[in-house]
Amino acid sequence: MTAHVHEAAPAAESASAGRLRSAGIRVTKPRIAVLDVLEEARPRHEHLSAATVEERVRARIGAISTQGVYDCLEALEAAHLLRTLEPAGQPALYESRVNDNHHHLVCRSCNLVTDIDCVVGESACLTPSSTNGFVVDEAEVTFWGLCPSCAASSAPVARP
Ligand SMILES: [Zn+2]
Ligand SMILES: [Zn+2]
Repeated sequence: MTAHVHEAAPAAESASAGRLRSAGIRVTKPRIAVLDVLEEARPRHEHLSAATVEERVRARIGAISTQGVYDCLEALEAAHLLRTLEPAGQPALYESRVNDNHHHLVCRSCNLVTDIDCVVGESACLTPSSTNGFVVDEAEVTFWGLCPSCAASSAPVARP
């Protein structure tokens, strides 16, 4: 019988703190809280406005100023730990799902934003006819329409 001796693990650093550290930016309590909030929203495919981030961060760590939230969001974006989405006519939305080049569906009626994975198949405008010398590494695509519940509640169109 072999006994395995496990050394006591060092106090676990939160995943968010680890990500800040490996991104090479200063690890601060508000930044950890902002990243935690975005990470919690991620499995639910939520895209959070700065106001929502502020509300949730405040619930988590207490006082933080609006400017403080923006400062954190800016630092996280610069470190490529979050992605900003700016649908026309809406406040900017933030998410921590980065580096997978996913796209978004936006409902024109209720502003619901949904993630979709990379566009498949041929779509005329996803491959530029000319890149003007640019080395293209990302295409940002936003599909606009009606979400299922808005589509269901909008008046049915009479068909001849
Ligand atoms: Zn909708
Ligand atoms: Zn997204």
